Amino acid sequence: MSTQLPFPVYLPNCQIINCQSLEKGYVLTAYSINNRAYCLLCQQVSNRSNGFYYRKPTDLPISDRSVQLKLRLRRFLCLNPACPRRTFSQPCPDWLPAYARHTSRLTQAQRNVAMMLDGKAGSRLLAHLHMPTSHDTLLRLIRKWQPTASPIPHALGVDDWAIRKAKTYGTILVDLERHQPSDLLEGRTAEGLRTGYKCILT
Ligand SMILES: [Zn+2]
Repeated sequence: MSTQLPFPVYLPNCQIINCQSLEKGYVLTAYSINNRAYCLLCQQVSNRSNGFYYRKPTDLPISDRSVQLKLRLRRFLCLNPACPRRTFSQPCPDWLPAYARHTSRLTQAQRNVAMMLDGKAGSRLLAHLHMPTSHDTLLRLIRKWQPTASPIPHALGVDDWAIRKAKTYGTILVDLERHQPSDLLEGRTAEGLRTGYKCILT
């Protein structure tokens, strides 16, 4: 069943044109409002469309319903006659990494839960929050996480987390003022914590 959006949804640089309400959740159809792009090979700008392709990532849930996007992107003709590339794909918007099945904001929300709990507990909670993902995926998200440069924290919380339960553990440092992870350390020994703590201070 198609319906008008009964709520605002923020999708930068995109226009939502349809909302389907299905048993599983919402399907939002949208297109990119950028009508030109640069050839990935020769960097020539093009506005000559040569068809479309679709990406179907999962986004943050709305209320208690899951959300799948159906995002239409263009294929462009390269206007440079010397370029060996005849067509190229419009890049995804910033909020959707190439080849990702989830939007960046959904991945961030899942990673935050995983870091505050652990893989298994995080997976159970996320299922209740309509952002289901597996225990293994959460561990991958934690391992891939790169701390961003931020001021030296004044108050640190320390906890361990199971990379493989009863076998391999890591240590998570949490900035208690900003309520966000500050760093991840290998192992959970006092020596490892001392070394990691010195790195944060330098
Ligand atoms: Zn080109």
